[in-house]
Amino acid sequence: MKSVTAVINLSALVGNINQIKSWVPQSKIVAVVKANAYGHGLITVAKALDPHVDAFAVARLPEAMELRAAGIDKQVVLLEGFLNDEDVAVISEQGFITAIHDMEQIDAIERSNISKPINGWLKIDIGMHRLGASRDEVAAMKARLEASTKVVQPIGLISHLSVADTPNMEDYNQEQIAYFNEIAQGFSGEKCLANSAGIYSWPQSHTHYVRPGIIMYGISPYDDKTGPDLGLKPVMTLKSSIIALRKLKKGDRVGYGATWTAPRDTILGIVAAGYGDGYPRTMPNGSPVLINNRLVPTAGRVCMDMLFVDLGPDSTDKIGDEAILWGDGLPVERIASLCGTIPYELVCRIMPRVNTEVLN
Ligand SMILES: *Cc1c(COP(=O)(O)O)cnc(C)c1O
Repeated sequence: MKSVTAVINLSALVGNINQIKSWVPQSKIVAVVKANAYGHGLITVAKALDPHVDAFAVARLPEAMELRAAGIDKQVVLLEGFLNDEDVAVISEQGFITAIHDMEQIDAIERSNISKPINGWLKIDIGMHRLGASRDEVAAMKARLEASTKVVQPIGLISHLSVADTPNMEDYNQEQIAYFNEIAQGFSGEKCLANSAGIYSWPQSHTHYVRPGIIMYGISPYDDKTGPDLGLKPVMTLKSSIIALRKLKKGDRVGYGATWTAPRDTILGIVAAGYGDGYPRTMPNGSPVLINNRLVPTAGRVCMDMLFVDLGPDSTDKIGDEAILWGDGLPVERIASLCGTIPYELVCRIMPRVNTEVLN
């Protein structure tokens, strides 16, 4: 019997990439594999994607180094740029592409004594106000980068949409795309704008490169749709087993704080999965778990290592039966909305002790 296991379906991953390519036939794919490939396993995912994508993107330098150490020699984009002067030499040696989002980074590049110029994509802020050159900084940063002998010419341009997944913010989204395209006129290098929601909903945001993250993993970026609604297949299925069964009498109280009381005689299943694995403690009573092809409700508080399900008085479920927490047959989008978060957070939060099983 297995405790919590994240089953990673690589043929679903490749199927999703092919689906994405059919949506962006003119663009190259930068596969976003930051945060351990959204909890799916950085190296497993990157190796499976390697033959199908043009480049990878991560947030930070150590993630890019992990890819190199595993033998991935494709282009890797550093979405957050770099944090320290020493990083410039590493980026130069490894040939990474770094986002350059403020003047201080240009100073650091100029101070360095690299002999091999670095690949830089100027990051501009088009409305998120997180990273990137503001409207009045773009020209000066561009001019400095274009004059630099330490940066590969022509430089690239990158930005990020803040409301591409928010249907009632259409105007603000269009404004951001239009501004990016206006600035892009002055750049002959590579351009990269669309995230998953840009790819799916906004063809005007498809530049040379697109950056799919969540949709590669078969998950929807929209609140009101699931991956399968978009023609995608979930890559991760998180499952565990029933490790104990108990007969409850009507009125018996369950779990820490006794927050659930049996409304009738019933059979309670104890599933080996809890918040110590990444199943949120904030899941309310009655959240669905898929057991023997039916959805059964959770009962009582989620513990660190276990949770309870009300299997019903007629249950014939056995110890060792599989319990699917999300994935195939139970969209993680639904689980996320029940606990007030987004699926991105749930898959990222898988804890290190969770087993991995890779399906080819
Ligand atoms: C995480 C991230 C992405 C991918 O976003 P998805 O919504 O998962 O497609 C793209 N670009 C940047 C800058 C990011 O930080």
